[in-house]
Amino acid sequence: MNLKQRDRKHLWHPLTQHKLHPEHLPIVRAEGVWLFDDEGNKYIDGIASWYTCMYGHSNPKIISAVKQQLGVLDQVVFSGFTHPPAIELSEKLMDILPDNMAKIFFSDNGSTSVDVAIKIALQYYFNKGEKRNKVIALHNAFHGDTFGAMSVSGLSVYNGPFEDFLLRIERIAVPDEQNWESVVKEFKNLLDTGEVAAFIYEPLVQGAASMHMFAPEHLDQLISIAQKAQVLTIADEVMTGFGKTGLNFASEYMEAKPDLICLSKSLTAGVAPMALTCCSQKVYDAFYDDEISKGFFHGHTYSANPLACTAAIAGIDLLCSEEIQNNIQRINKRHLKFERHISNNPKVKSTRVRGVIFALDLNVQMDRYGKLRDQLYAFFMKEGVVLRPLGNTVYTLPPYVITDSELDKIYEVIEKCLDII
Ligand SMILES: *Cc1c(COP(=O)(O)O)cnc(C)c1O
Repeated sequence: MNLKQRDRKHLWHPLTQHKLHPEHLPIVRAEGVWLFDDEGNKYIDGIASWYTCMYGHSNPKIISAVKQQLGVLDQVVFSGFTHPPAIELSEKLMDILPDNMAKIFFSDNGSTSVDVAIKIALQYYFNKGEKRNKVIALHNAFHGDTFGAMSVSGLSVYNGPFEDFLLRIERIAVPDEQNWESVVKEFKNLLDTGEVAAFIYEPLVQGAASMHMFAPEHLDQLISIAQKAQVLTIADEVMTGFGKTGLNFASEYMEAKPDLICLSKSLTAGVAPMALTCCSQKVYDAFYDDEISKGFFHGHTYSANPLACTAAIAGIDLLCSEEIQNNIQRINKRHLKFERHISNNPKVKSTRVRGVIFALDLNVQMDRYGKLRDQLYAFFMKEGVVLRPLGNTVYTLPPYVITDSELDKIYEVIEKCLDII
C-alpha cells in the first residue's frame, strides 16, 4: 500500500468530509517556502502552513536551537518547577508585547489560549464578587474549536451541532464606515447591562472570515469604551501576532491596549504546538490572594514545554532581526503593487492588503466548501502553489523568507485562476 492508501485506513483529518474528500497528499519534506510530496513534486507554501512557519520550514537557526535544547532538558512539570527556556521566552516577549502586558500563562494551541482568556475574564469578576457572565464577540469571528473558543466564534458552518451547549455570547457587527454609529450604540447598550465580563476580537484581520479587514480607529474606540465600562478586552492575535500585519502585533495599531492577548500559531515558528495568554498586572492582581481558590486552577500537561519555548525564543530573535523586518516590508510593498495591477480585472470584486496578508474576492458566488472552491484549490496545487480559497476569497500569507521570484509565482497563479472561473 502507498502512503495515500495507508492514510485512509486509520486517519481522520480536520475540517474534512471524508466521503467527499478521501485523499490526502503525502508531504514528506519541507524546506524554506517549499513542501515536497512523495512523488517528488514541490509546492510553494503560500499560507505558511496556516500562518505558522513564518521563518520558513526547517529554518536552520530554529532547528539547531531546538536540537541543542533536546540534549539538555526535554520536558518537566511546569507547576512547582520552572526552567530557563520559559524564563527567557517571557523576557523576550515582554520586550516586544504592548507595554501594559505583565504576565504570561501557557497552554497548547490557539483555542486553549482563548479558553484560558475567557476563563480568566470570568474568574476575574468572580474573584471580585461581581456577577458577569456574558462575553461580547464580533460577527463571523473565529477563535478556535474547543467549547469556549467555539462559543465566541461566529462562523456557523462549524458550530451547528453544538449551538445548544455554548457559553452566553452577545455579538456585534464588525465596525465599518456605514454601520459605525449603530455598532457603538449596540455595544454601549450591551455594556450597560453590567453583565458583560469581556469583549473578544481578532484585531484588524478576521482570518477565517476570509481575511476580512477593518480599521484600527474603530477598534481603538471599541476597546476604550469597553474599558471605561470595566469590561476586559481580549485580543486574539493567534493569527495576527508576530509580524503578519506589518507590526509585531496588530494591537500596536491601536492606542488603547487590550487587557489580555492570545498567541499561538507562529509563536513556535511551526515547530511545536504551544500557546500563550498574556495579561496586564491588573488582571493578574485579581487572582493574587491568600485564598487558594482565588488562584487560576487551569493547567495543561505540556505547559511551557522547553523545546517549544526554545523554538519560540529562536523565532522571536528572527522576527526582531533586520532581515525579517525588511522582508515584511518588502512583501507588503510587493502585495500593494500586485493589488494595483490586479484590482481592475473585471473578475476581481475587491482586494485588500495588511502587512504580509493579501486577499482578493472573486466576482462569483461560491460556497465555502463547494465545488468551485475545490477546483480552484486543485488548480493552484497543479501549478505548484498551496493556496486555500475561503469561499470566493483567494488569499496568500507567505513565509517571511519568500523570495521575489517565488512571490511572483504566487501572483502569477492567482492571476491565472481568473481565467478558469
Ligand atoms: C487558528 C486560530 C485559532 C485557533 O487556534 P488552534 O491552534 O487551531 O486551536 C484561534 N484564533 C484565531 C484568530 C486563529 O486564527
